[in-house]
This record gives sequence, structure tokens and C-alpha cells, in this order.
Amino acid sequence: MKVIAATRNAHKLAELSRILEPMGYQVVSQEEVCPGFEVEEDGTTFLENARKKAVEIFRRTGMPTIADDSGLCVDALEGAPGVFSARYADDEGAFHDDKANNQKLLRKLGDLSMERRTARFVSAISFVLGEGDIVECEGTCEGHIAFSQVGDNGFGYDPLFLVEGGSFASIPGEEKDRISHRGNALRTLRELLLARQK
Ligand code: IMP
Repeated sequence: MKVIAATRNAHKLAELSRILEPMGYQVVSQEEVCPGFEVEEDGTTFLENARKKAVEIFRRTGMPTIADDSGLCVDALEGAPGVFSARYADDEGAFHDDKANNQKLLRKLGDLSMERRTARFVSAISFVLGEGDIVECEGTCEGHIAFSQVGDNGFGYDPLFLVEGGSFASIPGEEKDRISHRGNALRTLRELLLARQK
């Protein structure tokens, strides 16, 4: 089945394709079907934002559409940056800049001990198969925030997010998929879709 991935983030698109294609989906990028189209992410939860992205692209294209809204929640910062993860450092004049977001996060945590640097990535998935036919789920991944950036792979907060074996930016992409919030959410989605066929 062809599905549109409702994202303009090339890294996210690559991860969604890497996980969805072995499940039998042919992933088409949002840019291919509605170039330049932007959905305002003004929801207060990851799921609200994911649903808005998937529904708006579905309405424009009439094609099954999958959206992920995701972010990093840091316990010592009361869940920040949360739904503001992509634009955490925007207030410092750095528009959607990963490097500035990471620097701000490091500054906010200062020299807080490793035990208190607990955090989780959250991914909310909304999959619109038809008008009013939506399957949704969430996935998380627990970790710690490093004291400095580790590794060059991935995107966003990957260099600061420590899991067993290194940071998300220092482990191979397939290893990240195996444990990541997005991987976990998409595996749950697969279960939900299989259950519908029974
Ligand atoms: P979204 O496009 O609004 O869902 O923004 C997600 C933002 O959360 C990204 O720009 C990253 O800053 C962060 N994020 C989400 N998932 C990941 C991930 O797997 N690795 C690193 N950062 C992520």
C-alpha cells in the first residue's frame, strides 16, 4: 500500500521509510505530493499535532497518510522541551536549529548529576486510512541526557540522548530503530493494523 509520510524532515522520512517498508508499505514523501505545504503544529500534545498533520495531508491528497509527532521530555525540566522540541531555541533567534536546541538543553541542565538527567523520547503516530478511519498509537524510549554531544549520526537531540551502548547518534540507524520511540510506536501500529484484519 502507498502511504504519504506527512513530514518535511528528511531524517524522519528516512526513519519512517526504513521501518515501514519492511512492513510492506511504499512510503511517498509529503514533498512529492504537496510540495511546500506546511501544517501549523499548534496542538498541546504530540498526538494532537500528529493527527492534525495526517488529517490535513489526507484531505489534500485523498491518499492514506501517516504522521509522526515526536519530541524529547526531560524530567528535570518538567517535561520540556516536549511539543516544542523542534523550536526549543527559537526564542534565542535560532529558527529550528538542532545545534542551538542542543546547546540550550545542555545549558539548562548545567552540571546536574547523571542520575537526575533522565529523559524520554516520545513518538505519537496518527495513520489516516480514509475519512474518519484513523489508527493512532504512541511509543517511548527512556534514556539520559549526556554532558556533551556524542556521535555524528541521526538528527535533532540524537547526540545528547544516551541509551545502552552510546548515544542515538553513535549507534547504527538499525539499532536506533530497534529501541527508538518511533520504532516502538510503528511496531504497535503494525499490531493494531494486523488486529483490524482479523
Ligand atoms: P516534529 O517534527 O514537530 O515532530 O519535531 C520533532 C523534533 O523532536 C525534532 O525536530 C527533534 O528536535 C526532536 N526529535 C524527535 N524525534 C527525534 C529523534 O529520533 N532523534 C532526535 N531528535 C528527535
